[in-house]
Amino acid sequence: MAVFNHISFDDHEQVVFCHDKESGLRAIIAIHNTNLGPAVGGCRMWNYESDDEALTDVLRLSRGMTYKNALAGLAMGGGKSVIIADPKVENREALFRAFGRCIHTLGGKYYSAEDVGVSTSDIMIAHQETPYMAGLEGKSGDPSPFTALGTYLGIKAAVKHQRGIDSLKGLKIAIQGVGHVGYYLCRHLHEEGAELIVTDIHQSSLDKVATEFGATVVAPQDIYHQDVDIYAPCALGATINDTTIPLLKAKIVAGCANNQLAESRHGEKLKELGILYAPDYVINAGGIINVSFEKDYDEQKSTKKVEEIYNTLLKVFEMSDAQNRTTADVADELARAIING
Ligand code: NAD
Repeated sequence: MAVFNHISFDDHEQVVFCHDKESGLRAIIAIHNTNLGPAVGGCRMWNYESDDEALTDVLRLSRGMTYKNALAGLAMGGGKSVIIADPKVENREALFRAFGRCIHTLGGKYYSAEDVGVSTSDIMIAHQETPYMAGLEGKSGDPSPFTALGTYLGIKAAVKHQRGIDSLKGLKIAIQGVGHVGYYLCRHLHEEGAELIVTDIHQSSLDKVATEFGATVVAPQDIYHQDVDIYAPCALGATINDTTIPLLKAKIVAGCANNQLAESRHGEKLKELGILYAPDYVINAGGIINVSFEKDYDEQKSTKKVEEIYNTLLKVFEMSDAQNRTTADVADELARAIING
C-alpha cells in the first residue's frame, strides 16, 4: 500500500497508522494541512473492505476538511481519521480509549470529532484520554443539526440561483440517507412544505421520517431516477458517478455527504447537463462551524456563522456562471487562495 504515490495523496503533512493490540484498534489519521491552524475533522468508523480503501477515504476526507475549514472562514487546518471496524462494534470503551491515546501522541496538531459510525458518546470516551477532541457533550455537542441547517440553506441558495425563488414549497426532494444529518434536514424541508422521497439501509430510520414528515420511502437503488427537483446525497461519498449521472432527473444536486463526486470530471458532466451542484464541503460546513465555537460555546453566534453558507454558495454559483467553470473548481480556487494566504 503506497502512501506518497497514492492517487489521493495531496501533499498531506502527516499520515499516522494506529494499532492497539488489546482493543483491536486499527485507525488511520491524516493531517492534510495546518496553514490556518491545528487540523480539525471528524472520525469515521466503517467496515472498510481493505486498508487501502480506508487510506483512500482518509486522504480524501482530510483534504476536503482543509478546503471546508478555509472557505467557512475558520482558523483551522484540515485532518480526518478513520477507524477500520464495524460501526456496530461492541467494545467501544476500549476502542475509543485507545483511539484517544493515539490522538494524544500528536500533541494537539489534530483534533477529532464525530463522523459516520461515531457518536458524541464515543467522543466523550476518547476525551477521557486526550483533550484534543471536539464536539463534546455540554459544549458544542452533536454537530449534525448544524450541518443539516447549513445544507437546508444551501438547498435554498441553489433554488434561488437556478429558479429565482425563495421558497421550497411544493418542490420534490430525494434524500439518500436519513441518519444523523438526513433526519434534521428532512425536518427543515418538511416544515417548508417540500415533498420528500427518502431512502436508507436502516428501516427504523425510514419509518421515523415517513411517520413524522410524510416522506415516501423508496429502495436504495431507486433514489437516483426519482422525478424530483433536487437530489440530496446524505449518506456516503462518490454517489455522483458514471452510473448514476444518466439516471438523474433532478436539476440540483445539494446534500451533506462528503466527497459526492466520484471524480472531478463528474462535476463537469453535471455542468454540461445543466445540473447545479452545490460543492459538498461548502454546503456541509455547518457542523464544523459549530465545532469551531467549542470554547465558550455560543449557539447564537454559531448559528449566525452557519447561515453564511447561503451567501457563500450564491457567490460560488455566480462565479461559476460568469467564468463558465464548474462550481467545484470555483470553490477550490476560493479555498486555495485562503489557505495560501
Ligand atoms: P449517519 O451515519 O448518521 O447517516 C448516514 C445514513 O446513510 C445512515 O442512516 C445509513 O444507514 C445511510 N446509508 C448508508 N449507506 C447507504 C446507502 N447505500 N443507501 C442509502 N442510505 C445509506 O451519518 P451522518 O452524520 O448523518 O453523515 C451523513 C453524511 O454527511 C456523511 O457523508 C458525512 O461524512 C457527512 N457529513 C456529516 C456531518 C455531521 O455533522 N454529522 C458533517 C459534514 C458532513
